[in-house]
Amino acid sequence: MAEKMRIGIIICDRYRHCAGGKCFRALREREGAFKSYAKDADVEIAGYTSCGGCPGGNVEYAPEEMIRNGAEVIHFATGLLVGYPPCPRIDHFKDYIEAAFGIPVVMGTHPVPEKYYRLHQKLGTWEDNKWNKRLASLQDPEEVRKAYN
Ligand code: SF4
Repeated sequence: MAEKMRIGIIICDRYRHCAGGKCFRALREREGAFKSYAKDADVEIAGYTSCGGCPGGNVEYAPEEMIRNGAEVIHFATGLLVGYPPCPRIDHFKDYIEAAFGIPVVMGTHPVPEKYYRLHQKLGTWEDNKWNKRLASLQDPEEVRKAYN
């Protein structure tokens, strides 16, 4: 029988009207941060919400509801990493959730769209070494990034 897994997704409120198409597709295709789940694993989204808008007040509460609904991991949507600018509170949010709720946080959901990838390269956004860790789960080949433009 396939392994069962439930996850929660927190998106940046700048994209609060996003219908989630890229995240849901990436989960289905096991791309971006969802590469880590086996193809045959039964992965269900137990919660999907925004941070509540800067400074992210909903991060204090949303994980609890997701966990009550079975979430074992919280993913920060890729928008937190690729927005202009990326969320300045992302490390704090991760530390807070892991300390307060005892579950892991993964930075990222769908692959970085190529247009964001190229512009951030130009801007030098990700030159600081801290970004290697933050973007670790979003290492996808160019053709995959292009497919998420
Ligand atoms: S930048 Fe960060 S705190 Fe502000 S809306 Fe986006 S995720 Fe929330």
